[in-house]
Amino acid sequence: MTRGKQKIDAQKRNQEKNQPAKGSQLEHRAAAFKIQCNICMAMLTHENQVNQHYESKHPGKPINPKMVQ
Ligand SMILES: [Zn+2]
Repeated sequence: MTRGKQKIDAQKRNQEKNQPAKGSQLEHRAAAFKIQCNICMAMLTHENQVNQHYESKHPGKPINPKMVQ
């Protein structure tokens, strides 16, 4: 029953993405966050990489990455 909510979340995220970045370049750069594995602390740069990483390195573990900037 989470599909509807996921869709809304995705729409929201898209809206945020499409909004013009206000403020400085610094903010713009901050948007390019990095993702860190909470288990082995590997740095991942893309959401797809996160799933792949957890599947190959920590199969069966919950996907719970940390966001770092
Ligand atoms: Zn890891």
